[in-house]
Amino acid sequence: MQVTLQDGTTEHYEDSPFASGAQGDLFLSKDKQSVIKLYYPNADRKVEEQRTTVLRKIINEFNVTRDNPAAKDLFAWPNAITLRPRLGVRMTNVNARVKHEPLDWWMLPRAFKRLSPEVRGNWLDRTRVASNMARIAWMLHGSGLCHSDFSGANFLANIHRQHVVLIDLDSLVVPGVLPPEILGTGDYMAPEIVIAHRRNDGTARPSIYTDLHSLAVLIYQLLLMRHPLKGRKINSDDAEQDDLLSLGEKALYVEDPDDHSNRPENDFNGAWLLGEEVESLMRRAFTNGLRSPQSRPVAAEWGDALLRMSDQIIPCSNENCPGKAFVLLRDRPAVCPWCGTKVPRPTRVPVLRLYYGVGQAGHYQQDKGRIVGWQARTLHRWHTQTGISERSATKSEDRAPVAEIQYKQGQWVLVNNAINELRIAANGTVSKVALGDLAPLEHGQQLLLGSAGSARMALVTMQDL
Ligand SMILES: [Zn+2]
Repeated sequence: MQVTLQDGTTEHYEDSPFASGAQGDLFLSKDKQSVIKLYYPNADRKVEEQRTTVLRKIINEFNVTRDNPAAKDLFAWPNAITLRPRLGVRMTNVNARVKHEPLDWWMLPRAFKRLSPEVRGNWLDRTRVASNMARIAWMLHGSGLCHSDFSGANFLANIHRQHVVLIDLDSLVVPGVLPPEILGTGDYMAPEIVIAHRRNDGTARPSIYTDLHSLAVLIYQLLLMRHPLKGRKINSDDAEQDDLLSLGEKALYVEDPDDHSNRPENDFNGAWLLGEEVESLMRRAFTNGLRSPQSRPVAAEWGDALLRMSDQIIPCSNENCPGKAFVLLRDRPAVCPWCGTKVPRPTRVPVLRLYYGVGQAGHYQQDKGRIVGWQARTLHRWHTQTGISERSATKSEDRAPVAEIQYKQGQWVLVNNAINELRIAANGTVSKVALGDLAPLEHGQQLLLGSAGSARMALVTMQDL
C-alpha cells in the first residue's frame, strides 16, 4: 500500500493491518522501520480537523523527544501525519531493533509462567523498568501532557534488557485542545474515573493525577505481581459490579495499615519488601491518594525512590530463583522473599547511609539514600554530592562511577576512582584516601565524599546477615 504523508512524500506499507484498535488499524512499513495508525473514517469533517490539530501539536510543540535524544527510546512518538489512503499518524516501529512485548506478560503470574527464562529477566531488571516508567511519566507531565491510558498493553517492555517504551501517544491529552477520548483501562483507572463511569456522569476526566494512579498500580504490579486493590474483600455478588466497586467507590489498599479487611488470607509478598521509601510512597498512593488525587506521589518521586531502592538490591544465590535479586532490608533476615534462600555469605555487609551538609562545615543531616555494599557496587556523583540526580545525569562523564565497593580477602573495601578529597573519619582521626587507593570499610566510619559544600557524608554501619 502506498501512503502519502502531509508533506507530500510517499512510503510503502503492508496491505493488511497487524493490529486493530478502538480508533484505527496499524500497519507496518515495508522496511519495518515505521508503523502507521490509519484512523477509521469519520463522516464528521470537524472531528478529522480537530484530530489533525492535535496531532500537529503532539508532533511539534509538545514533542518531548524533539530536543532530547535520551527520550527517543522511551516513546513511540508520532512523527508524521498521513493523508492518503486516509488520515493517520506515523511512529517509529519499537520492535525494529529490540523485541518488545506488553508489560502484562511480566505482571500477570499466569502469563509470566509461560515465558522462557531469557525473556523473564530478574527482579533488578523489573526495578529498572519501573523507574524508567516513572521517568516516562515525569517527562510527559513536566510538559503538561497526560497520557490518559497507562496500562500493561501500552507500556511495551524488554525486561531482560531493562527497556520499556510507551506507545499510543496519538491520543495524548494536550492542554486546552480536545477533551480526552479515552478514559483508561480497567484495572488501572483512577477511582474518580471508575466512580463517574459507574454513575454515568461525565464529570471526571483523565488528568496528570489519574495518570499518577495508573502509574502507581503498574509499579506495584510489576514489582509484586498482584493488584494493590484486589484482595479478599467482596463488594458485590455480581462480578462486574464487584470490580467497579473495588476499583472505585469501595477501593481499599490490600495493605491498608488501619483497615485489614482486604488483606489476602495467606502470607503474601507486600510492599515492605521494597524498602521503607517505596513502601511509604505505595501507602500514600493507595490510602490518601485514592480519594485525594493531589496527594498521589508524582512521577519524579517514584523515579528517584526506585533508583535508591536499586542501591539496596543484592543477588539471590539460588540459580533457580524466579526473582534472582531482592532488597536487603534493615533489621530483617537476609532471606530471598521469592524463593526462601538465605544469603550464604558473607556474614556481614557494609551499609552506607547518606547525609548532606547543612550550614557550617561538619554539620550533616540524614538524606534518603541507603547503599547496601556488595561486590562491584559502584558509587556515582548522585550518591556523593547533592544537586545532581540519576535522572538529571545524562552526560557520560556525570554517569561514570566515582568509587566502588569490593570484597577482598574477607574484608570490605572502598576503591576511590574519582573522588577528590575523599576522607575517612573514625575514632577521632581523619585520613585521606588518594585517587586510585582503597580503604577498608568499618563500622562507625564517616566517609567524607569530597570537600565542596555539595559533598555528602556517608555513615558506615555493618549489617549482620
Ligand atoms: Zn531467591
